[in-house]
Amino acid sequence: MLAGKDGRVTQHYKIANIVATEGAHLANFDEAKFAHLQALSPDERADIAFVMDARDMSAALKDVRRLGLELQVIYHSHPHSPARPSLTDIKIASEFESTRGILNLPEPLHLIISLEKKDAPEANAFRIVNGTVTRVSYQTL
Ligand SMILES: [Zn+2]
Repeated sequence: MLAGKDGRVTQHYKIANIVATEGAHLANFDEAKFAHLQALSPDERADIAFVMDARDMSAALKDVRRLGLELQVIYHSHPHSPARPSLTDIKIASEFESTRGILNLPEPLHLIISLEKKDAPEANAFRIVNGTVTRVSYQTL
């Protein structure tokens, strides 16, 4: 997760991908994907799916508040696919929208980094609201 103020990112928080842990809780996925994920090793699972660790997330959000900043970006990589949201990404982002309302958090952008072309990584940012994906521009300083 990336946090900052006035549209400018200043803090970086690493959040564990619990899909990559042994005996991961995979309830977020439909039956077919669940069966597929269960057959893989934690490392292989991390290559194709992610679920953020709730404790890491909560610690990060606490620090963001302590610093008087706002959560601005949630990012993850696509090791083998293009830099655009997958159907699962859209589903997870949409589910996060209800949590976000309860926690009174601002709407984060979703940044996806594609490592498909190892020598030319690509990063695109998106708004994902009510299942609708809109690409947004950003600058690196
Ligand atoms: Zn993704």
